[in-house]
Order: sequence, then C-alpha cells, then structure tokens
Amino acid sequence: FAKQSGRCCYKFYCDSMNAKAALRLQLEQDLRSALSSGAILPFYQPQICAQNGRMVSVEALVRWIQPQGRMIGPDEFIPIAEETGLIIELGKQVLQQSCHQASVWMKNGNPIRVAVNVSAHQFKQSDFTDLVKQTLEEYQLPASLLELELTESVIMSDAEENISRLKELKAIGVTLAVDDFGTGYSSLSYLKRFPIDILKIDRSFMCDINSAPDDIAIVDAILALASSLNLGVIAEGIEYSEQITILKSTNNLLLQGYLFSRPVAAEYITLDRARL
Ligand code: C2E
Ligand code: MG
Ligand code: MG
Ligand code: MG
Repeated sequence: FAKQSGRCCYKFYCDSMNAKAALRLQLEQDLRSALSSGAILPFYQPQICAQNGRMVSVEALVRWIQPQGRMIGPDEFIPIAEETGLIIELGKQVLQQSCHQASVWMKNGNPIRVAVNVSAHQFKQSDFTDLVKQTLEEYQLPASLLELELTESVIMSDAEENISRLKELKAIGVTLAVDDFGTGYSSLSYLKRFPIDILKIDRSFMCDINSAPDDIAIVDAILALASSLNLGVIAEGIEYSEQITILKSTNNLLLQGYLFSRPVAAEYITLDRARL
C-alpha cells in the first residue's frame, strides 16, 4: 500500500510539474509574440521637483496590454523575461520607446527627462553602451534627457567591473540613478567611486513614515549620505503629503508616487502636468 501511494504521490508531483512547465512555456510564447506585436509598452510616472512642484522627469514602467484590454504589470512578466533571455529584447524596446517619446515631448517644447529601468542581464551585455548611444542618435534625443536606473544589487555585484561600464555610460552624458536604494548592501567606499548621480530611496522606507521611527532614521541617513556625496535624491512611493514633510529641507529632491500620479499612458503626460 505504501508503495502504491508513494507512486501515486510521485505521479501527482510529476503532473503538477508538467502543468507548471506548460504554463511557463505558454507565457514565454505569449510574451515573445507580445514583443513582436507591440503589446509591450511603457507607461510613465511623473517625478516632481520638491522645490517648485514642476515635473522634471518621468519613470518609464513597462506594461503588457492583452488583446482583451487587460493590463499586466511588470512583476508578472519581468521574471519570466529574465529567465528566458527575452529581457534583452524587452529592455531594448522600452529604451527605444522611451527615447522616442522623450524626443516627441522635447520637440513639442516640453523637455522631460525619461528614466528607464535596466535589468542586470541588459547591463552586462558588452554592447549595452553602444545600444544606448545608437538609440539616442536614432531619436535625436540629448543624453541629458535620458536617465538609466540600476538597482543597488546589480551595481554592487561585480562592483569593480561595473565601475568601468558606468563610466562608459556616464561619458555619453546620461544620468545614472541607483534604484531601490537602501534594500541592498552598498559598500560606501564603492558608492563614492561609482559615477552615479541620483539615489532613489526605496518605497518600503517611505511607507510608514509616520509610525516607523526606524524608517525615518534610514531615510535621514540616506539623505545625509546623498548630501555628502553630492547626489540627487528621488523619494518614490509618495502617497500622502505627510511623507514629504520629513524630506522637505533636502536639495535636489524629486518626489514620485500616487499622490502626484500613477504611471499613465504617454498621452496623459501633458504640459499641464508639468506644473503640478
Ligand atoms: P521600480 O523601478 O522600483 O518602480 C517603482 C514601482 O513602484 C512601480 O511599480 C510603480 O508603479 C510603483 N509605485 C510608484 N509610486 C507608488 C506609490 O505611491 N505607491 C505604491 N504602492 N507603488 C508605487 P511597477 O510599475 O509595477 O513596476 C515594478 C518593478 O518592475 C519596477 O520597480 C522595476 O523594478 C520593474 N520594471 C518596470 N519596468 C521595467 C522595465 O522596463 N525594465 C525592467 N528591467 N524592469 C522594469
Ligand atoms: Mg525604477
Ligand atoms: Mg524603485
Ligand atoms: Mg522596486
């Protein structure tokens, strides 16, 4: 009997593995065709200057628009894209679409910098710098209007090697931001040597700013660090105006969050919004 039920369990395990694998394969195929049909595109979320309330930049956040109009967020497909290598094509498309969009805004007299998320895979491609250069040329976008976001963990892995890659990118003139800052393990000595411009304080620290003294202490530490290294700061996940009060006296501060706007389709980023 034991043997039999063992075999039964094994079979069950196998079936559910197969189902999972089949689902993943389907998702991969769907993602592949979405990438070739233009169903993967960025939305844009405003980043607001704390000093004058102007929208100076937007972050490009990728969405997958399904045939039925349903929208899928990146957390559901970026991991699959990473595992299958499709992230290279996806990242390239988002970079191109974002640069194209920023150049349209610029030509309409509305120069807004666009921040594009770069995955580890993409960043490690030997021709990544060339891709960025070519894309800027293709859409005639000044490098000053492109920002690249790299997560703290990506930058800190192979720190030595990454310094030269970051220097290549910096030489083009793009802005470099460290995303999700505070969640990884940054070596402060490295941080000083990286040619980075901006620290993005992770949303998790902004969440309970009223109730969590620890979070406030971390935010304070990041602000002090940024100030002494002469870096700009972006606070993401701003949902309530109270969250802003603890950041108020910071120079070079940008605010991003639902309080100002959710990520929206390009056509909703208008000149009006530039004066929030
Ligand atoms: P992220 O780069 O840290 O982006 C910030 C996330 O926080 C976005 O989620 C944004 O919609 C969300 N957010 C912004 N303000 C608020 C707020 O006030 N409250 C709350 N609760 N959330 C807020 P989203 O769009 O789902 O993106 C999730 C992650 O997916 C991004 O985190 C980024 O790591 C990744 N991602 C998005 N687009 C791309 C892309 O084009 N390429 C790559 N490699 N990764 C991307
Ligand atoms: Mg980001
Ligand atoms: Mg972030
Ligand atoms: Mg994040």
